[in-house]
Amino acid sequence: MKLIESPVLEEHKAMLAQEFVLRQRADIVHALCRSGSSEYLESVLDILLSQEQLTWEDYQNILVPGRSLHTNARQLLDLVFSKGVETCLHLTAALKQVLPKLTGAQSIEITNEERATTSTHALVTQRARLVRELKDSLDGLLDALVASGHFSSVDCDEVNLPIRTPLQQVRTLLDLVLAKGEDAAHVVVKYAQQQQTSSLLVNESELRFPKEFSRYQKKLSSSVLAQSSFVGTYGGGSIMRLDDIYTEGQLELPQDLSETSSTSVTLEDIVGEVGTVNTEADTVLLSGYAGSGKSTLLQRMHLLWARGAALQDFLLLFPFSCRRLNSEQRELSVIDLLFQHCCWPDRDKDEIFQFILDHPHLIIFTFDGLDELKDTFSDEQRICCPTQCASVPIILFNLLQGCLMKGVLKIVSSRPQAVSPALKKHLRKEVILKGFSPSSIDSFVRKHHNDATVAVKVLQSVKTNSALLGLCHSPVLCWIVSQCHKELLDSYEESPKTITHAYLMILQHFFQRQGSANTDDGLSWMLQHHTTILHLGQLASEGINCSVYVFSQADLNKCGVTEMDVGSGFLMQSKSMSSNHINMFEFLHVTIQCFFAAAFIVLSTTIEHCTIPRLFKTQDPKMTPFGSTCFHGCLSSSEQQQKLLDDRDTTEAKHQNMQITAMFLCGLLSQRHQCLWFQCCSSSNIVKRAKLVTKCLSKALQKHFKSIPQPVQGEKKSMHAMPGFVWLIKCIYEMQENTVAKDAMSKMDVQHLKLTYCNIGPVECTALAYVLQHLKNPVGLQLDYNSVGDVGIEQLLPCLHICQSLYLRNNNISDEGISKLITKGILCFLTTNLLITA
Ligand code: ADP
Repeated sequence: MKLIESPVLEEHKAMLAQEFVLRQRADIVHALCRSGSSEYLESVLDILLSQEQLTWEDYQNILVPGRSLHTNARQLLDLVFSKGVETCLHLTAALKQVLPKLTGAQSIEITNEERATTSTHALVTQRARLVRELKDSLDGLLDALVASGHFSSVDCDEVNLPIRTPLQQVRTLLDLVLAKGEDAAHVVVKYAQQQQTSSLLVNESELRFPKEFSRYQKKLSSSVLAQSSFVGTYGGGSIMRLDDIYTEGQLELPQDLSETSSTSVTLEDIVGEVGTVNTEADTVLLSGYAGSGKSTLLQRMHLLWARGAALQDFLLLFPFSCRRLNSEQRELSVIDLLFQHCCWPDRDKDEIFQFILDHPHLIIFTFDGLDELKDTFSDEQRICCPTQCASVPIILFNLLQGCLMKGVLKIVSSRPQAVSPALKKHLRKEVILKGFSPSSIDSFVRKHHNDATVAVKVLQSVKTNSALLGLCHSPVLCWIVSQCHKELLDSYEESPKTITHAYLMILQHFFQRQGSANTDDGLSWMLQHHTTILHLGQLASEGINCSVYVFSQADLNKCGVTEMDVGSGFLMQSKSMSSNHINMFEFLHVTIQCFFAAAFIVLSTTIEHCTIPRLFKTQDPKMTPFGSTCFHGCLSSSEQQQKLLDDRDTTEAKHQNMQITAMFLCGLLSQRHQCLWFQCCSSSNIVKRAKLVTKCLSKALQKHFKSIPQPVQGEKKSMHAMPGFVWLIKCIYEMQENTVAKDAMSKMDVQHLKLTYCNIGPVECTALAYVLQHLKNPVGLQLDYNSVGDVGIEQLLPCLHICQSLYLRNNNISDEGISKLITKGILCFLTTNLLITA
């Protein structure tokens, strides 16, 4: 079938092209300049010259020597735009040819006729192809021109000037030939025909690989493959292939006020142009809360790259873990960092590094867990030389800013709160990982269980408890729930609806798996294993206090962690940090470390009185919760000094971990779970600590409410949730005590509660509804720009009667969710005049 293009359609395409040049200006400039060399720009100019869309004068006005590449590229766009739609159309076609990955240019096409009538005409109209094809046979062509008497040695010297790149040498040659006339041009055309080089082969030969490059690439990719093939978190020594369990999570771009719906992206989009806000920057931030799957997603990217299944525009991928970088005490250069921390080249180290420097756009670095880095990002100390040594954080910060290895794409993962405005300035874009969608939960559970009937039962059980379904949106909780399917399906056990309950379930599950007999009775397993909990708890809490997530055998010994304790499965050997002689350990997940830290506060007889109050004052990240630390004993005096320095810079990860620990503490000391501890601790101590927690929580909330400004006369008293409000609400939910919730709400005297952009997902909705339903007076609840979803809607229903208005714009709610909301909303409308905006 032939598509006949009408003049109207052609005109439409041309207009689209002009709009494309205008709207995508930033992307085009970035794409033309991202390699740092003028090659892309010059190639586009070749094409436009050959199509007579640009004149020599235009060409010279654009390629002004000594001016920045970006300015030259912008000059091109200005000129093309001013020439009108026709030239814009040719530009988009040229961009498509030179930069096939530039989004948008593909949809605008023109037919490029290359009908040359004379050799000089051919030199102009086929300039772009000739430049590419003649680059590697320039000497032969010069010989041919000298032999035919058209070129002198002066001409040859002019072409061969060492300041010119090989492609520029060909361009100079063509310019000289054009000036010499038709006969000289004929020699070139004939020579080019003789070469008969396919453009494909020429494209490949444009990259001059060092001899050892392919061997190095293979070594790197097999090391990345080995590191990324298995998931470590399965605990107790069990191993799972990433391929068998990996489930797509929800990846989104940050929601912009001007947009009406959230923008979802794919794994490949992380490295693509989509969502770019700063075309000059090379760093992509992958953000998400603890357990949302950031490390797993990066691991997936590594695996796909190493296997050749994705990210194939990048020839080398260097994966880094910030946990591991924390332990690097030496000053290093970038070259040391790449080769010593990722993969050592057996030969030609310098050539391989030079190739990396020359082709930054073919290289990608990933840094997992930036929030766990002990130093806070700073752009004060600049380093631009890749062989200069400095401390690892300084090298890392310079890489992220692009002072070092400009053009190399860097992906960093972090919890969102840990990204400072100083770092934000240097971000190319941000991609947010929002955990699992309802369909990912389904697919994860099915992958987890080989037996389909078990999977169906687990899913049924999860779906009948909507609070549990909410929890499963977090991949780490989905993993826990799937692991504990037996406990979940036991009819006599109430299925969990709090995060603490889910973690207690995995605690019991691992201990039972360790093979202890007589553990059916919920109390006896705790009695049997409380010393293990105490040992691991001490290790966990000391670790969180010092921002330590990887532990040596000496650290374990110091806290009394025995081999049997390790055998319980909550610690795993750190793959990246262990060597032949030294074993290093880490908790299966940072939230499990927090859980043990909370259990330690419950069980320990030695904690200081101020430990609990300090934990609830963590709105100030500089507070240290666990008082004096026995962990110092594990450190040498110079390390202690370093630690004192580090303490001044309490990491955001530590602050977050303290909040998670506080939340677990609320759950562990709740009336529902208190009895667990009675067998191994004095009950009066437990009750005392529970009361203290309640008091601290109430105080923290009061402090929060006191900061609400008085309303302007005639307006409603409104509260925009401060950071920490949602955390406190979740703490109350973990306690599951109506009196605590009632007491908290009796002090919240507002008519409008604004929680826009607060990362409210289904779990947060459950907690909010639980607490808000105790409000005395109706409130307006503004939840725009969150991730409530249909499951979250269901969670909110219990507090609908107390809502005067409910704003839910941009929350991934389907028609089904809306209809549930309306059904319940109609009933509430009759009582409170509820107004819903979604
Ligand atoms: P984060 O780095 O955000 O804290 P992780 O990637 O460590 O989260 O995820 C915690 C656990 O959740 C993983 O160890 C794994 O068991 C599970 N998980 C996370 N993401 C996925 C995924 N996409 N597919 C399957 N399991 C996942």
